[in-house]
Amino acid sequence: MNERMISRKQAERIVLDSARQIDVERAGIDEALGRALAQDVASDIDMPPFDKSAMDGYACRRADLKAQLDVIETIPAGKEPTSAIGPGKCAKIMTGAMVPEGADCVIMKEYVEVIDERTVRFVGKDTATNICFLAEDTSVGDVVLRKGELIKPQHIAILASLGCTSPLVYRRPNVGIVATGDELVEPTEKPGASQIRNSNSYQLVAQVRAAGAIPHYYGIAGDNEEAIDSLFKAALAVNDVVLISGGVSVGDYDLVPGVMRRNGVELLFESIAMKPGKPTHFGASASTFCFGLPGNPVSTFVVFELLVRPFLLKMMGHEFIAPNVLMPLNEAIEKRRTKREAWFPVLLTSEGTVKPVEYHGSAHARALPQADGLICLPAGVNRFEAGTIVHVRQI
Ligand code: AMP
Ligand code: MG
Repeated sequence: MNERMISRKQAERIVLDSARQIDVERAGIDEALGRALAQDVASDIDMPPFDKSAMDGYACRRADLKAQLDVIETIPAGKEPTSAIGPGKCAKIMTGAMVPEGADCVIMKEYVEVIDERTVRFVGKDTATNICFLAEDTSVGDVVLRKGELIKPQHIAILASLGCTSPLVYRRPNVGIVATGDELVEPTEKPGASQIRNSNSYQLVAQVRAAGAIPHYYGIAGDNEEAIDSLFKAALAVNDVVLISGGVSVGDYDLVPGVMRRNGVELLFESIAMKPGKPTHFGASASTFCFGLPGNPVSTFVVFELLVRPFLLKMMGHEFIAPNVLMPLNEAIEKRRTKREAWFPVLLTSEGTVKPVEYHGSAHARALPQADGLICLPAGVNRFEAGTIVHVRQI
């Protein structure tokens, strides 16, 4: 084995240990989605802020359920009741309205017989309380959201309900993206003989954006040192992270590692025992982290998901825990060599099993849109039988 080749777990450790959190800033709640909180958020109010009706119905005393009740007022949401509920009385009440003093339950409209405009009778067997009590969800001062949590739409609701309209969050890292390869043309062009379209830069732009960071695309460098050096330098100078794809393996035109070194990047690893992704490089200059990613679109995709996404999120103040499900394989999978762990695209069937999608290797980008996740056949293992319970890393 190449002695510089490390395991994917070691690579993950090195990458995560290197990540340093970047600075913080305030974000309006309309732009906080996908960022990590840099502060705990405490509640400035009780929730609910008053005893609140959970139903449309009549607020009354449980002791009076068997009696005819006088309706003394109607309480819509947003209005305070004007009087307390005494024996034999009730108030018509709407969902979300304040429950009047004296009432200890709300009987649902559906179980009430209206005798006349001023008189009703409960005709159900029994009733739940149907009141959301003052502060039963949250009291003033409770920490409701914690530093490091990733802000999802449901977090936005809480921020809004607490009036926290510009939470402190971590800055989004700037990520420079450079493609290399003499054979590449941009997607707007029709490839000539021996050319292919640059697809993985756009995939990387999208992955970076989906991770919550800010992509900056620098274009394609041909396979010569000057061209690579010029785009790489430009990206290195102004970004927190640079992703450069292609040109990292051992071919005559794989010039990226040399260019990285000459630009002051110290390489922390140069090869990972994984397939796809073996020639992945990672290093750091004084100010910027760099990933050299293999050029095939499936390789860049997988390495991004396994290493770059957790790294970017750690920089953004969030500990990424991969969405993972455990399910049985519905057919065997196999690999010939066992030196490296191997990742396969799979889909989740409606029967609750895992099905490998047709996959011809790391150039077969078409396999990915069909897949719901990736599974790993570890180093040293050459086959999983049908029925094996596997971890599916969702993508
Ligand atoms: P490399 O890592 O440069 O040896 O490239 C490995 C394979 O990936 C080659 O077949 C390249 O043509 C292909 N490739 C490299 N860069 C890209 C790219 N940006 N988009 C699509 N395919 C690429
Ligand atoms: Mg190349």
